[in-house]
Amino acid sequence: MKTFAYFRAETADQAPHLLASHASPDYLDGQQANASQGGKYIAGGTNLLDLMKLQIETPIALVDISRLPLTDVEETAEGGLKIGAMVTNSDLAAHPLVRERYAVLSRALLAGASGQLRNKASTGGNLLQRTRCYYFYSPTSPCNKRIPGSGCPAREGRNRMHAILGISEHCIAQHPSDMAVAMQALDASVETRRIDGSSRRITLADFYLLPEDHPERENVLEVGELITHVILPPVPAGQHAYRKVRDRASYAFALVSVAAVIDATAGQINSARLAFGGIGVMPWRNREVEQLLCSQPASPQLFNQAAELLLKDARGSGDNNFKIALTRRVLLSVLTDACKGELQ
Ligand SMILES: Cc1cc2nc3c(=O)[nH]c(=O)nc-3n(C[C@H](O)[C@H](O)[C@H](O)COP(=O)(O)OP(=O)(O)OC[C@H]3O[C@@H](n4cnc5c(N)ncnc54)[C@H](O)[C@@H]3O)c2cc1C
Ligand code: SF4
Repeated sequence: MKTFAYFRAETADQAPHLLASHASPDYLDGQQANASQGGKYIAGGTNLLDLMKLQIETPIALVDISRLPLTDVEETAEGGLKIGAMVTNSDLAAHPLVRERYAVLSRALLAGASGQLRNKASTGGNLLQRTRCYYFYSPTSPCNKRIPGSGCPAREGRNRMHAILGISEHCIAQHPSDMAVAMQALDASVETRRIDGSSRRITLADFYLLPEDHPERENVLEVGELITHVILPPVPAGQHAYRKVRDRASYAFALVSVAAVIDATAGQINSARLAFGGIGVMPWRNREVEQLLCSQPASPQLFNQAAELLLKDARGSGDNNFKIALTRRVLLSVLTDACKGELQ
């Protein structure tokens, strides 16, 4: 591991200043291709420390945000929830309001990682965890996400875990988070604090970026911008489910997952929120599919049309071709169960 300076932030206002005052001017100007060469926040450290040990992230300074008072889950005036960025995955999954109203989120969190990891992993850090592409974690491999322009060996190499939607010729890495998939279905937003002291709110739908020509850029956060909270709007009526297909029953990333909030009777879907994990370069949601499902009486034909629409642009790269058929089957089973009132 390379040496780095270490600072602990006591307040959310202080953290961006600390990061700014210990980063090079190039980094702050956004000139540096690999932002990991500047300063980094460390929350639970469950992803960042692994990457630092491999020298894939080599920050010159760490700003420890683990003691920031961002550990509350509060009700908002609108009837939603405001979740502090340092709420752990375990605490969020177990929170009574989350279990009662946002069961899809609680289930997605509990489907991720292991109990020990969830006790450390934070809400903000989970949204920003890096891909699990094997080549990204191998310092001796080329990888456009790590070293822009160096190539993407995953496209013709080992790509069983990789994305089938949103990919580009420069990167096919999948987004690994389970929590973010449920939050995408719930129309979550993040609240942030920038280096200049200003705050902003970004919907999760606008937060992540497609790889296109710049897979090294994964989201719209500016250099040094701190996530302070996640906001969940009131949840619509419906049955909640998080289904995750993986290689073993626990402690494995999703091959395909779906977060669903569906209001349905035997003959009609009244509203559907569906977000997918394991198949996209970001937590994947397609609102046209949701609209189609509510546009006519529920039937196997309609469900097949919805699967066609969802997978219209899906592209396998070899090892991961199976994800196209698997996604279809997972979607059909979720919709069928929802119409029987048996979604869980
Ligand atoms: C063996 C293993 C199995 C796993 N399995 C799963 C799984 O099945 N499903 C799943 O979803 N996840 C899984 N994970 C990933 C785990 O959930 C993440 O590592 C964790 O959520 C990251 O949170 P953290 O607080 O530890 O982040 P850190 O490692 O501290 O930080 C991650 C990144 O986020 C940045 N950051 C953190 N907080 C903020 C903030 N508030 N504002 C701005 N930037 C911030 C950091 O600078 C860093 O770049 C697994 C991890 C491991 C090691
Ligand atoms: S898929 Fe993306 S992360 Fe993996 S090797 Fe290719 S460029 Fe790197």
